[in-house]
Amino acid sequence: MIAIGAGSGGLSAVERASEYGKKCLVIENKKVGGACLNVGCVPKKVMWFAANSATNIKNASGFGFDVSLNNFDFAKLKKGRDDYINGIASWYDGYLEKLGIDYEQGFGEIIDKNTVKVGDKTFTTNHIVIATGGEPVKPNIDGYEFGLDSDEFFAMEDLPEKVAVIGSGYIAVEFAGVLNSLGSEVEMFARSDGLINYFDDIIKDSLAKDYKNQGIIVHTKQNITALKKGSVIANGITHNNFDKIIWAVGRKPAIGNIGLKTIGVKLTDKGFIEVDKFQQTNIDGVYAVGDIIGKAQLTPVAIAAGRRLSDRLFNGMKDRHLDYNNIATVLFSHPPAATIGFTESEADAKFDKVKCYTSSFTPMSDALLPRQTTTALKLVCEGENEKVIGVHIFGHGADEMMQGFAVAVKMGATKEDFDNSVAIHPTSSEELVTMR
Ligand code: FAD
Repeated sequence: MIAIGAGSGGLSAVERASEYGKKCLVIENKKVGGACLNVGCVPKKVMWFAANSATNIKNASGFGFDVSLNNFDFAKLKKGRDDYINGIASWYDGYLEKLGIDYEQGFGEIIDKNTVKVGDKTFTTNHIVIATGGEPVKPNIDGYEFGLDSDEFFAMEDLPEKVAVIGSGYIAVEFAGVLNSLGSEVEMFARSDGLINYFDDIIKDSLAKDYKNQGIIVHTKQNITALKKGSVIANGITHNNFDKIIWAVGRKPAIGNIGLKTIGVKLTDKGFIEVDKFQQTNIDGVYAVGDIIGKAQLTPVAIAAGRRLSDRLFNGMKDRHLDYNNIATVLFSHPPAATIGFTESEADAKFDKVKCYTSSFTPMSDALLPRQTTTALKLVCEGENEKVIGVHIFGHGADEMMQGFAVAVKMGATKEDFDNSVAIHPTSSEELVTMR
């Protein structure tokens, strides 16, 4: 098997194939580990932990501590984060070697359905896995280059005093939250009428309220026409004095020059690679996994798809494939949010009998604090037996709460099953099994 791209998807496919005794090669033109390790989940989460520490220090007076935040060494945080990532990357090198997986550094290009070229070398196989992921987008407007994309965000050496974050999706919301907690003055510019519009209203509304309380300014319905150094021009108004401007307006599939046209790989109307439920493209022996197929663009999804593909091809598991329904996801905002399944409006549009249970409160962790956050929960239930088809959580601990509830939803749990689970007290998550 040859995987093009050593990110979550490509590495997982060859790792599993090699466990079944197959000879494998993985090709990478940037850094092993792909977006997740180098410019995605991992550095993002380290920054998020740092931001939480800053918030905890600011809040500690509520519990009687006489502490103040005197100094913050951004360069130290960046170095620690980068060292941590480099450590994981070098672990990968040894790991690939141990599994006997060959590695080529360079740009992989498909020459025909059995051949991949890297520089002046060619490699042949019966199984090519395209796992080239995505790239951040900067829109083609005047002065776009004055804004950093998400890759460049992680290369920042200093904490900006005042920053503009353009976008309303999860990357924009997460970057804004981190920077604000670390001490930047943050203004967000969203084209839509709010942030993270694809989440349930209970999360959207709670996030909007909380970000406002924290002092993050959110400009909605913004048409950005140009950037200048330090300025964002939107709806005819110039917003000035930003030390940094950050683009977080989406990612595009990395399909340029990889030979898809040469062999006639079909794309979706949005430009992603079209695959069937077995990750199979329209070309026999050529597969695609991960962000490049444009569905549920998350690391564990890429990993699961890659592993299942090799299980099916090399371990006789003929129907093995990834079910893309009911995949839980977390927004690492401050505080975080987590979601699985249908939002209330999606459920209303699809089913006749929908009942929702909600709860909103100040979490006990914040009761004594100078600045309190919200915890907001929603269960979306469907049918006579109230099958739980959506769980939406905003508030401290949402990120860690969701995994167990995701198991229940995936198993088809009903509201009664939730209620039959005795609460753990005192927690925020207990509210999810005591809702009336
Ligand atoms: P990638 O990880 O992008 O790997 C593709 C690799 O292919 C890259 O290393 C690229 O250099 C290489 N490549 C491309 N073309 C070629 C070529 N022709 N030849 C050789 N190599 C090539 N997901 C989560 O689950 N949780 C999170 O919290 C989370 N946070 C994120 C935060 C940010 C800022 C970003 C950008 C992403 C985040 N993601 C998160 C998404 C996650 O990173 C992706 O879903 C995941 O990395 C997809 O894996 P992949 O293998 O499809 O692609």
